[in-house]
Amino acid sequence: MENYIVSARKYRPATFDTVIGQKALTTTLKNAIADGKLAQAYLFCGPRGVGKTTCARIFAKTINCLNPTPEGEACNECESCQAFNEQRSFNIHELDAASNNSVDDIRQLVEQVRIPPQIGKYKVYIIDEVHMLSTSAFNAFLKTLEEPPRHAIFILATTEKQKILPTILSRCQIYDFNRIGIQDIVDHLASVAQKEGISYELDALNVIAQKADGGMRDALSIFDQVVSFTQGNITYQSVIENLNVLDYEYYFRLTDHMLHNDVSSSLLLLNEILNKGFDASNFINGLGSHFRDLLVSKDAATITLLEVGANIREQYKAQAQRAPLPFLYKAMKLCSDCALNYRNARNKRFLIECTLIQLAQLTQPDDESPSGGHGPQQTIKPIFNNNSPAVAAEVQQPVARQPQVQAEPAKSVQHGSQPQPISRSAMHQQTQSTSAKPQAISSISQLGVSIKKSQPITTSSEKGQEEHAQHIENKPVTQENVERSWRKFAEQLPHEQVAIKNRMQSMRITLIEGTQVEICVENELNAKQLNEMMVDIRRFMQKDLQNFLLEPHVVIKELPLSVKSLSRFEQYKKMVKKNPWLTQLRDNLGLELS
Ligand SMILES: [Zn+2]
Repeated sequence: MENYIVSARKYRPATFDTVIGQKALTTTLKNAIADGKLAQAYLFCGPRGVGKTTCARIFAKTINCLNPTPEGEACNECESCQAFNEQRSFNIHELDAASNNSVDDIRQLVEQVRIPPQIGKYKVYIIDEVHMLSTSAFNAFLKTLEEPPRHAIFILATTEKQKILPTILSRCQIYDFNRIGIQDIVDHLASVAQKEGISYELDALNVIAQKADGGMRDALSIFDQVVSFTQGNITYQSVIENLNVLDYEYYFRLTDHMLHNDVSSSLLLLNEILNKGFDASNFINGLGSHFRDLLVSKDAATITLLEVGANIREQYKAQAQRAPLPFLYKAMKLCSDCALNYRNARNKRFLIECTLIQLAQLTQPDDESPSGGHGPQQTIKPIFNNNSPAVAAEVQQPVARQPQVQAEPAKSVQHGSQPQPISRSAMHQQTQSTSAKPQAISSISQLGVSIKKSQPITTSSEKGQEEHAQHIENKPVTQENVERSWRKFAEQLPHEQVAIKNRMQSMRITLIEGTQVEICVENELNAKQLNEMMVDIRRFMQKDLQNFLLEPHVVIKELPLSVKSLSRFEQYKKMVKKNPWLTQLRDNLGLELS
């Protein structure tokens, strides 16, 4: 655990062979170097964090190595290799076109290109995010790319190949980097964990790998985050809690309810999930994926398509045996329809509940429906079959006279004491959204249901305040009070969101150009989490600081090495610098740094 920081840097591959998940590509590069068939320009395309820059660096090192190994790798020992490994080689130049994209930046680079290398044979120029270059910068660069000096090799890297001009494309050898497979990421995380003496559950690493979506850098960054949250003991439970992932268990339980045609329990489980603060659209997509995973688990030939850990795999196999194929086909279709309609639905919870009801009735025999299966096909059947007219009439009475039914709709459905046709119960559900118990309201607001079109999640009193606020003058904001407001927002988050809450406390917030607030995060996962909360963040900060021009947004930036790679002792020294009393405290208490 000691000195444990930034695995993505510490475990950055140093040879082609240790690059994960890009075997075909690294073999081709190695062969090209061994055969001396080097192109003058390469284009590395692919998603972020899959090894483009790493491969470019290894490539630069290898072609300059004075004693390459028989396998075509750099020796890591000669003067040139050492210079590379210590990041002091003059034969490699990296330009991040995302931040240096002007003509002047390119001119500077072009001038450097003329100077031949002192040691080694080649100078390698890596231009990252090359699609970000301005058009004029592109044109300035094109000339050099057409007639480069013999010692110069360009490696252009991009996440967006379609934005590269054809004139550039035609001059480059193109390499497409793949997303890295879940299993490859899990294996690598496991090896890092072993080297760091961190205990882990494979299912937990699997969740991290899935969250990273094929990017190793993100996977390692999320891994680091989880390690610090769990004090080096990575369990499945701690990971899903920290990453705000919905436990597989919920999908398994829900599917079992559906297979038993148990509408009530399905709805109650949905309520539980939404009350925990999970996003409804993620939920329905997750449920769709769950059915897909069950489908591939039914057949030994397709089970390889299942990307989960060993324990969960067994659970999938077992449930797949219980779920008939037609059920899975229809269930996938229903989930996909629901996801499609989700954005346009006015009452999103209602849409999802309808879908769950349909799902729970898929395996119900047709003759149980009132039409006996011969009438026009019904997509939703009555939930209960013992419909007595007397009770139905009772239900029709004004809702106000039945507070119990109104407050606990799900419970009454569960006990079956108040049978009602589903169409009414659904409307019931809809009207309840304004008057039901507090939880129901909170979960509906989590769905982002709008009361007024342009203003989601506002109550009428809040809305009044806001309208009022728009007429008053915007107050000037400072870096200091933006930071304070940010912390205030984090502090008021509910306990269920403790993980993101803690993380928000340590994020870097920068006020730029008066009203733009930049929120710095380390990986796409954090960016996504924050973006989901952005409406609330914006509203909170605008109101808190009385400035309605305030515009927070998220940027993904890797923190500078110096900030992150402090050992415990270095951290201590830094703290002492800020507060010299620490030394005395340490002495008085007889503390020792381990
Ligand atoms: Zn070497």
